[in-house]
Amino acid sequence: MMTKNFPNLVLFGSPGAGKGTLCEKLEEKYNYRTISTGNTLRTIANQNTFLSNEIKAIMANGYLIPDEIIFAIIKEKIEECTHYKQAYILDGFPQNLRQYEFLKSFFLTEQERNKITFVHLNTDYEKAIDRMSTRLSCPYCHKIYNERTSPPTIHNLCDVCNSILERRTTDSRDKAILRLEIFKKTTLPILKYIKKDFPLISLVDPTTHIIEDLIFRR
Ligand code: ADP
Repeated sequence: MMTKNFPNLVLFGSPGAGKGTLCEKLEEKYNYRTISTGNTLRTIANQNTFLSNEIKAIMANGYLIPDEIIFAIIKEKIEECTHYKQAYILDGFPQNLRQYEFLKSFFLTEQERNKITFVHLNTDYEKAIDRMSTRLSCPYCHKIYNERTSPPTIHNLCDVCNSILERRTTDSRDKAILRLEIFKKTTLPILKYIKKDFPLISLVDPTTHIIEDLIFRR
């Protein structure tokens, strides 16, 4: 299915809000491309360079990666999608005011801003912690599972690429709580700017169907 008339999406929500799972569904059904800063950083962290070791250490501690690294990732991926007229979903970006300003610099006119829709997944923090501490993910293709609600067909093996699933270092309960604190302090405050600048859909624990109705059939 062609996606060039669909809006580009920015999923805005706390860690564990369900952004990654929603991206998987929208990719499969509408041919979106997901630009996930978390997945890109995990791929870089698995290479054996000075930068990868630094990224790995910051991520393992639950803190945000320096903006300049994130900007380089985002610039390359947005430009690639724009070049190929590929509709995309931003997952995990922007996470602070500086990153938000950087994103805005790609959309200077009102017309350009109307081609992008922010979707705020407003998930209860306790639910997010619970989701993170039961989450399993594939280190290679990045598919997400949940021990209780969506386990893989074969115990601990990815249904898609057969790799051994892992629990992310950032998903332990104490790291999840720390990341939520960082979200509340650093990321959530940008919501008031988003509301002024871009189309925004704000939803509490939505199902994929509700999101599809709102985004594609408005
Ligand atoms: P989740 O899927 O649990 O929401 P992510 O996979 O998006 O988490 O992010 C994992 C880690 O990657 C974060 O804890 C942070 O260290 C880093 N990260 C991801 N996106 C950004 C960003 N936009 N700015 C800075 N750090 C980021």
